[in-house]
Amino acid sequence: MDVYWVNRMTKRTILTDILSIFVENFNYMFTDQIEKFIHTNKYPGFNPKAVFFDMDGVLFDSMGSHASAWVAALKQMGLPFTENEAYLNEGRTGSSTIDGVFVKEHGRNATEAEKQTIYKLKSKLFETFKHSEKIPFVTDLLIQLKSEKLDIFVVTGSGQPSLIDSLDGNFPGIFKKNKMVTAFDVQFGKPHPEPYLMALKKSGLKPWEVVVIENAPLGVESASKAGLFTIAVNTGPLDPSVLSDSGADIVFDSMKELFDSWDSFRENWKPANNTCVSQ
Ligand code: MG
Repeated sequence: MDVYWVNRMTKRTILTDILSIFVENFNYMFTDQIEKFIHTNKYPGFNPKAVFFDMDGVLFDSMGSHASAWVAALKQMGLPFTENEAYLNEGRTGSSTIDGVFVKEHGRNATEAEKQTIYKLKSKLFETFKHSEKIPFVTDLLIQLKSEKLDIFVVTGSGQPSLIDSLDGNFPGIFKKNKMVTAFDVQFGKPHPEPYLMALKKSGLKPWEVVVIENAPLGVESASKAGLFTIAVNTGPLDPSVLSDSGADIVFDSMKELFDSWDSFRENWKPANNTCVSQ
C-alpha cells in the first residue's frame, strides 16, 4: 500500500473519530440536561409532542433590523439606546421596552401617547430597514419536525403585522393562526412566563411534552420560568454564556448545529413512567 493511500485512510479515520467524539459529547450533554430537567422540575419524564418557536432571531434573521429601528426611533425622541441594549431587551413587548428606557432616563413609565408615537415610528423605520431572511436551516428543521408529527407553535413578543403575515408565505403549510401567541395576546410579555404558559394552554399539553427554541436571554427566561425545556440558538452577537445564565437547558451556536443534532437529541427523550407526577 503506498503512502498516499495510507495518508488518505488515516485522515478519514481521524475525521470519523473526531465526528464520533463530537456526536458522543452531544449525546452525553443531552442525557445529562434532560435528566437534570426532569429531576429539577419533578416531572415524570420528557416526551415532547410540540415545539414552540420564538420568531425574531429563530425563524427570521430580523433582529438586526429591529435593533437599528429601536435605536433610530428612540434617538429621534432624544432617548439614548444602543443596539446591544436592543438585543438584551429582545422578546419584551414594545410597550415594556419603551417603559424601560423612560424609567432609566426620566424615572417614570412612558404615557400611552408617548408609547404609541415611539412604537409607530419604530415600526415605520423597521419597514425601511427590513431585512427578514429566514434563518439558515430553520426550514429543514421545521420540515423534519412536521414529518415527525410534532405540533408547531409560534410564541413571539412581536406585534409587527408584516412579519406575522409573512409566516405563511415563508413557511407554507407549517404555521396555523390558532397555534400562535403574539404581543396582541399577552398582558406582560417575555421575560414573564405568560406567553409560554398561554401557548402551553393552547396546546393542551403538559410542560414535559414541549420543547422551546429561543435566541434571546429574556425569551429563554420566560420559557424556563414556564417550566419548559429550552434550547437556545445563538443567532445574534451575544456571548453564549448569557443564554445559559438565563436558564437555557442547551445552547447551540447555530440552527445548523441544532438541525444536525436533532436525531441524537430525540434519542434521549424519556417517555413518562407515570410515577412522581407533580403537575
Ligand atoms: Mg427572538
